[in-house]
Amino acid sequence: MSEQQALSQIYLDANATTPVLAKAAKAALSTMETMFGNPSSSHISGLQAKQIMDETRNKAVKVLGAGSGQVIFTSGATEGIQTGILSALYAAKKSMQADKEYSILYGATEHKAVPESLKHWNKILEINATVKPIPVDEMGKLDMDFIAKEVPNALMICTMAVNNETGVYQDLDALELVIRGNNANVFWMVDCVQALGKRCLELASTSIDYAPFSGHKLYAPKGIGFVYIRKGAPFTPFIAGGGQEGGLRSGTENLPGLAALNVIFDELLEQGDGVFASVGQLQLFRTQMALALKNAFPTVVFNHDFTNSVPTTLNFAIPGFSSKEIMDLFDAANIRVSSGSACSSKVTRSFVLDAMGLPAWQSESAIRMSFGPAVTQQQIDQACDRIAHCAQALGHSCLLNAMGNIDEKSQLQGLVQFKVGGSCTWLYADPTTKTAVIVDPLPELTNRLLTILQCQQLQLVAAIDTHGHADHQSGRVELAKQHLAMQHTNHLGWPEEVAKIELDGQSYEAISIGDKYLLRIATPGHTDDSISLVLCDKHKLQHGQLAVSYVFCGDLVLMGSLGRTNFSTSSAQLMFNSLKTLFDLVGDDALLCPSHDYHNEFVTNFAAERSRNQLLNGVLMSQLSEQQFMQNKADLDKNIHDQIGEEVMCGAFTSSCNQKRLQEYNTPELKAKLNSTPGVKLIDIREPHEYALNHSQEFDMNVPLTRLADFICQQQCNKSQELILVCRSGSRSQVAAQALNRLGFEHVGHLKGGYALSQAT
Ligand code: PLP
Repeated sequence: MSEQQALSQIYLDANATTPVLAKAAKAALSTMETMFGNPSSSHISGLQAKQIMDETRNKAVKVLGAGSGQVIFTSGATEGIQTGILSALYAAKKSMQADKEYSILYGATEHKAVPESLKHWNKILEINATVKPIPVDEMGKLDMDFIAKEVPNALMICTMAVNNETGVYQDLDALELVIRGNNANVFWMVDCVQALGKRCLELASTSIDYAPFSGHKLYAPKGIGFVYIRKGAPFTPFIAGGGQEGGLRSGTENLPGLAALNVIFDELLEQGDGVFASVGQLQLFRTQMALALKNAFPTVVFNHDFTNSVPTTLNFAIPGFSSKEIMDLFDAANIRVSSGSACSSKVTRSFVLDAMGLPAWQSESAIRMSFGPAVTQQQIDQACDRIAHCAQALGHSCLLNAMGNIDEKSQLQGLVQFKVGGSCTWLYADPTTKTAVIVDPLPELTNRLLTILQCQQLQLVAAIDTHGHADHQSGRVELAKQHLAMQHTNHLGWPEEVAKIELDGQSYEAISIGDKYLLRIATPGHTDDSISLVLCDKHKLQHGQLAVSYVFCGDLVLMGSLGRTNFSTSSAQLMFNSLKTLFDLVGDDALLCPSHDYHNEFVTNFAAERSRNQLLNGVLMSQLSEQQFMQNKADLDKNIHDQIGEEVMCGAFTSSCNQKRLQEYNTPELKAKLNSTPGVKLIDIREPHEYALNHSQEFDMNVPLTRLADFICQQQCNKSQELILVCRSGSRSQVAAQALNRLGFEHVGHLKGGYALSQAT
């Protein structure tokens, strides 16, 4: 294992959950081993257990300022939320008038447990009120005018004290004035999960009816929580049974959880060991972290205002990087953060940041760092150091602009695949001449491409689109403006001054790049201007032989499909001929690099496509006439779902990828395999910056997904080599292994679950 591997974990995801404080864990253990009685038993063991429970409840009342309100222990906040909502809605239903329209209000940035439970109980109790989100402004503050207008007809209003993604807190006093000023009787629940230990709470001095809390967000174990119920607020038990908790919540109490909470409450009441930092200290920690982020990533943008956020949460975005990329990077540096967003479709977005009206890129790139009050100065210092290392690693792989020379290791050569959603951009670099060509540049990648060109000191020879894209603007013009200002090209970026090459009596236009030629072949069909670009060996071509490395085929052949031909400039008839032309030229095995990759398949070839695409096979094997193809293609295009998410689909899918069963290993199996079978190549499939931060010496090589096509090209003649792929979680290694399998690699396996499962932290 490398030195970095030994780095201890820095856990900065406290808003998701926290470790159990050592003293709390000890208290919990003692209730499992020694004081394990059932609080309902009347013997001494039971009485001892009940004593712990009563003491914990008394402390909870003090911590919350619950006065004469009740504190009931639950399994966690989600149960507390159900309890509050069921109690409120069941009571509200009784006073509903038949001819009146009712609403139920909740903050638009609320944790999903709240709106989902509201909708659930609204339906189950047949209340049928309109469940409405309360908008927030760009600071995350609830719209008071909206509440004033809507609350008179509301049965219940749910707000949160502190947001879990941003740390933004609400002004509960101001909120109370608006709510009660417009509806004295509406039931009010405040989700206080993220406020415990970070905001002062005096619940009994407010008119809040219900407030759920969770132990595992503040150093107690999972499975324990509590809910505050205002004196006089209606209550309906959510769990009935043996009558525990005075009949309000049945089920034998979670004594270990209670014992741990007891210790946490001591800390909050300043009767413990003083392990919780003061608010002032936490603010200093936040300032230090924010500075470290700014130094490492000068363009970082914070997604919330620190003036109305608790100091333990930093939510930020780094322009040009998705949250997945930054999470992978930080994970490699053994810093645990979260993307602060739910993976809803292909792109992860934060509904909280969306509700705040932040630009889409900030929502898609959001990263949340959160710590708890037990964080230490040493941990914060270490985190700041590692953040700086992360930025260095990105600089090393030329994703951030780094000064200095590019050493051998990070020098780019060959083909790189970039992806945004289901679309691809291809960059081919020749290290000897230090030249590069870019095919189908996506506008979202412009900065990244410019940074790479500059950092790698590559001269751009051409930036070419394979066709006029219907689904997006090309990034070609911007690249050309900065790198090819003197070049005259056609509308796709194909230069006017090019070489002319003869092959089998045909003349082709070609761009020279190092020891390769890039030939242009007209392949109309998807659009009338569609071209394919064939990268081939210059020397062999001069001797009349076409040795193809890659074919950039645009939307002619897509993986598992053919480009659609129902645009105004499309022609299925021309596509029929284009497919034949290209196949006759490049054959079954040349690697096809389309401009879309909707299913994470990376690259393909005609052989792989023919085996799963009957229509294509029919054309290429001359089993279908032009007329038959046109008819079949028209039928196929009718089924195109025009849009998936925000993407226009460019292909009509003929088949899903019929994946072969992969050889999967768990960690012991992998170790045994490596010991018993010499010659197996173990490949780390993560990106180079992740690899640089943290890798095992056992790996034979690093083949990031962005370089998989290049690796496949290099290994074309050695498909029997046994390969085992590994990544962090097992998902990247799985898709890469599937791609290799599909392209005829005979012995490919991967580590299921990734090295995350085998890494001790
Ligand atoms: N509310 C908020 C604000 C939260 O952050 C969470 C947990 O993520 C919950 C509710 C749910 O808490 P639990 O995991 O205890 O059910």
